[in-house]
Amino acid sequence: MRILIIEDEFSLSDVLAAALKKENFVTDCSYDGEDGYLQAMTGIYDAIILDIMLPKMNGYEVLQKLRMEKLQTPILMLTAKSELDDKIQGFDLGADDYLTKPFEIRELIARIWAITRRQGIVETSALRYGDLELNLNQCSITQVHSRQSVQLGSKEFQLLELFLRNQNQIITREQIVEKIWGYENNAEYNNVEVYISFTRRKLNFIGSGVRIKAIRGIGYTLEQIQSEEY
Ligand code: CA
Repeated sequence: MRILIIEDEFSLSDVLAAALKKENFVTDCSYDGEDGYLQAMTGIYDAIILDIMLPKMNGYEVLQKLRMEKLQTPILMLTAKSELDDKIQGFDLGADDYLTKPFEIRELIARIWAITRRQGIVETSALRYGDLELNLNQCSITQVHSRQSVQLGSKEFQLLELFLRNQNQIITREQIVEKIWGYENNAEYNNVEVYISFTRRKLNFIGSGVRIKAIRGIGYTLEQIQSEEY
């Protein structure tokens, strides 16, 4: 999942990004309200962390504009102020949750999981397709019949998560780059093929009948191979 952090304190933003990365979230950072608004409007995020005191446009204005534009992405507001009035204002404008600084990172992570789950993005701790199970908490895959399992690297995990959340759809290479590498890194499309190949090897390793099928010139999709082994 991909999270946008709109926070002008560099040190806090860095800490948040690092903590979310550990949980296998992909993060992008924005340091003022205007830029944050524009990034949020791309619609590619699964959740947004939004500070209130921001340069150029404050968090309330950003929130209000996003909701006026009908952006449904779950938003967690951060603020140094703890007055009840602020909380009410935040919820009135369509924030999904609210956290007062200082807070514990563990608390923030729990809230992020909660608001994305509420949106139906995360239903369980595992995603299934055919005989393949992706374990969201352990960052591993399991063949459900043999229980053979293997640990995934962060990019492999994100790739499979993307495929399993979009079953029976073709995922374009652009979508993969956008979701997993983001805009900043200028990822070469070749990277996609490298990680697809790593991921295929792991699927083979656990003996899964699930394949990542290349659709020439477009992208990839998951398919299940019926083999005599089952
Ligand atoms: Ca701030």
